[in-house]
Amino acid sequence: MKILVPIKRVVDANVRVRVKSDRTGVELANIKMAMNPFCEIAVEEAIRLQEAGAAKEIVAVSVGGPQCQDILRTALAMGADRAILVETDGETQPLGVAKALQTIAAREKPDLIILGKQAIDDDNNQTGQMLAALLGWAQGTFASKVERAEGGLRVTREVDGGLETLMLKLPAVVTTDLRLNEPRYVKLPNIMKARKKPLEVLKAADLGVDLTPRLKVLKVDEPAARVGGIKVESVPDLVHRLRNEKKVI
Ligand code: AMP
Repeated sequence: MKILVPIKRVVDANVRVRVKSDRTGVELANIKMAMNPFCEIAVEEAIRLQEAGAAKEIVAVSVGGPQCQDILRTALAMGADRAILVETDGETQPLGVAKALQTIAAREKPDLIILGKQAIDDDNNQTGQMLAALLGWAQGTFASKVERAEGGLRVTREVDGGLETLMLKLPAVVTTDLRLNEPRYVKLPNIMKARKKPLEVLKAADLGVDLTPRLKVLKVDEPAARVGGIKVESVPDLVHRLRNEKKVI
């Protein structure tokens, strides 16, 4: 099995994001960036399938600016075999990315594409589903378990109020949920080794991929500031306030 793992470069999950003063987006200047956490889980799952003998090759792919090479190197250091950057200077949105990934899938012919369930910057949760639709492949989204099985993959999905188990025929698209695995730490020798692994750069324009944005952000607002709490004297006082001031009971 050959696995393609699309990964996105986003603001590091530990950074407290700030909205730009003109409210057009969040501040990205001098902000620490990293691989989207759900994509790290996708890379880890691909490596585990390879370690279990179920996968021959893992190719990481990112669509974005030249800076995305840093997360591709991280994927290579984790254990991916090769990397591809589909380079564009413009904004990337799910439909354009899904089309770019469709083009890469036609070149690479993977049996499985594992993506994150969502990128933590825009929280779209769309790319995997759009890609499966464009390719006409089976999809298992929000996966919390992925197993190689006779005829394909058995995918356990996290759905409202429980788990759902699907059998997918290959080729297929899987998107990762938080509980699928815990990604490994990258060791220094592997970072050194990753520098020698192949990283191909393809210009989106040369691939003929249409990355034109379809969505326009009108404005971005900070969440409302939380108001401080108070101490109440007694349970009757609490009930009184909930009933008469907050009107929630
Ligand atoms: P989204 O639909 O934007 O929430 O992203 C879901 C998943 O799609 C991410 O976790 C990535 O696996 C993949 N993805 C989104 N944007 C990109 C991108 N620019 N390059 C590569 N993969 C991406």
